[in-house]
Amino acid sequence: MSCRRFLSIPVLSVILVMGFVYYITVFVFIDDWVGLQSSAGTLNAFVFSFLAFLCLFSLSVCVLIDPGRVPASYAPDVEDSSWSHSNATETRKCDKCFAYKPLRTHHCRVCRRCILKMDHHCLWINNCVGYANYKAFFVLVFYATVACIYSTVLLVCCVFKNGNSYAGNIPIKTFMVFCGIFMIGLSLTLGTLLCWHIYLIAHNMTTIEHYDSKRALWLARKSGQSYRHQFDVGVYKNITSVLGPNMIKWLCPTFTRNTEGGISFTASRDS
Ligand SMILES: [Zn+2]
Ligand SMILES: [Zn+2]
Repeated sequence: MSCRRFLSIPVLSVILVMGFVYYITVFVFIDDWVGLQSSAGTLNAFVFSFLAFLCLFSLSVCVLIDPGRVPASYAPDVEDSSWSHSNATETRKCDKCFAYKPLRTHHCRVCRRCILKMDHHCLWINNCVGYANYKAFFVLVFYATVACIYSTVLLVCCVFKNGNSYAGNIPIKTFMVFCGIFMIGLSLTLGTLLCWHIYLIAHNMTTIEHYDSKRALWLARKSGQSYRHQFDVGVYKNITSVLGPNMIKWLCPTFTRNTEGGISFTASRDS
């Protein structure tokens, strides 16, 4: 766990954007709409503050948690069926760490080490997204999308109520138009990222595996066969392997360690 990871311009920019969205939502949109002193204002401010806290907490988990380190003693189990089903051309030894790589592990050039079940290296959290922090990353994107859509709805309510008074005030009108474009853009970007990761989780794929599987999919389609990802064991099992077996804890950013430990995974032909 390294707090120094927070000291990067992209991470500080994310925190700054969070602070800006929180400020305009609570002190501009809600206050101008119903007033912070009213019961509706207090309730909306409380719900939005809770969402903002969940975003900040999930971001901290993503930044601070080690995404997944390969144990120094790791050696592949040749009896493991998922190894025998794996692509024969897959490199089993990292040519940079000179150590064995478990299945789904990849070498990150930025972190300069191998990451268990690596998804991608994310600039915005100054960390890799891997086995141990993927759930926190997904939950962060989920809460951030909900918060942005919520904020956009509050902005629309505020503009509908005060539209006439804004018309004659050019600086406020310009500021509200800027906020509208900013919030809609942010909601669409985060919403697209959320849909993408829901798709990946439902198919038990990482971003790297998705791009790797494109050729296999193309070849299967060309020969008239259907393609199924190696670790795709059905939508529900795929979801529980990432978010945990307890549905109540699916949106809790803390990691649910499963029995596989990021080293071995159930292949679809095993299930
Ligand atoms: Zn490596
Ligand atoms: Zn990395």
